Amino acid sequence: MSKLTLRDLDVRGKRVLVRVDFNVPTEMRGKKVRITDDTRIRASLPTINYLREHGAKTILMAHFGRPKGKRVQKLSLRPIGDYLHSLIHQPVIFSHDTIGEVPKKIISHMENGDVALLENVRFQPEEEANDPKFAEALAKLGDLYVNDAFGAAHRAHASTAGITKFVAKSAMGVLMEKELKHLREGLDKPVKPFVVILGGAKVSDKIGVLKALMGKADSILIGGAMANTFLKAQGIPVGASRVESDKLDLAREILDLAEKRGVKFLVPIDAVEAKEIRVGATIRNTSRLSPKHGISDGWQAVDIGAATIALYQEEIAQGETVLWNGPVGIFEIPDFAEGTMAIAEALAQSGATTIIGGGDSVTAVKQAGLADKMTFISTGGGASLELLDGKALPGVAALSDTK
Ligand code: ADP
Ligand code: MG
Repeated sequence: MSKLTLRDLDVRGKRVLVRVDFNVPTEMRGKKVRITDDTRIRASLPTINYLREHGAKTILMAHFGRPKGKRVQKLSLRPIGDYLHSLIHQPVIFSHDTIGEVPKKIISHMENGDVALLENVRFQPEEEANDPKFAEALAKLGDLYVNDAFGAAHRAHASTAGITKFVAKSAMGVLMEKELKHLREGLDKPVKPFVVILGGAKVSDKIGVLKALMGKADSILIGGAMANTFLKAQGIPVGASRVESDKLDLAREILDLAEKRGVKFLVPIDAVEAKEIRVGATIRNTSRLSPKHGISDGWQAVDIGAATIALYQEEIAQGETVLWNGPVGIFEIPDFAEGTMAIAEALAQSGATTIIGGGDSVTAVKQAGLADKMTFISTGGGASLELLDGKALPGVAALSDTK
């Protein structure tokens, strides 16, 4: 089913509610929040600028971090609004409440071309619960709705899905459209061999989608904390590594499935292990991992090892389409980043169609200085994987259909 796009809407003079993805990585500099990667904010500019140029009153909605339904001052969107101001050279009116009298008043004073930003939608527990009353209260702030938050489109929340029931028309933003086009083109019928690298921390988020990849990928290379679960499932000691012990059966199931389907499924054959997760921690490369020789007691696997890097590089070099989601190590700490940087390098040199998904993977690619060497960099990790999984994204499904 095709969906309305921004261009299908008559936005002039209208209050247009736009759900954007401003969930960017940040760090604290003293008491100030510093944005360490502004990819997602910049990616929303085509939609914001289109609306400004077409005389709409743009009301931005976004979430930031995981405040779990409470007002958490350090997760305020205010600094993001200030940053957006510097990008568009126009003040961004900030509403410190998400719904109610404060935004109502602000919006009633908006002129055509103005841009406002509502406070973090996740300060309200109703957001993630997709509460219809909250969705309606948001909807009442505008006339039209645009979803440009690809990175949140796999969640059926009030500001991503519920809201569409209460507005006249809802459409995809420019970024949303671009993401869907590239990911569908790249992944529906990938040119083979199709190599997938999956890493990162959220094992439970990604392990399910692995099953769907079985039918599509020729080889799947596992890294990150997720790898530990597969290692443990194969009886290899993981020491003090981060592992999801309740997912061992699922990991075994996936290993079996890979064998049945003839998918080359690679897990690390060695690792970098560290005593602590900090800069300057003692590290060492393990020997070949086996049930007898695993990660040492009290040590943690923090990166893939040298032998695994070589193995994965070889595999990536053979790919025609390569999808990467999730860093293969704790790349935030430079000593633990070698594997992740080597993967980025291998993709850059592969000559394949390369697709990167996931906030942290994108950061890693940028850190490696290789972003412009990739075919497509998605702003949504989870969403891109669900799309690959063949699932309808709730944030897209809820939008108005074209006639
Ligand atoms: P993405 O944002 O690319 O989808 P995730 O959010 O799933 O990736 O995972 C990124 C996080 O995974 C990073 O913060 C990284 O430190 C962490 N990580 C990677 N490898 C390990 C590991 N071996 N142990 C613990 N955490 C890890
Ligand atoms: Mg992440």
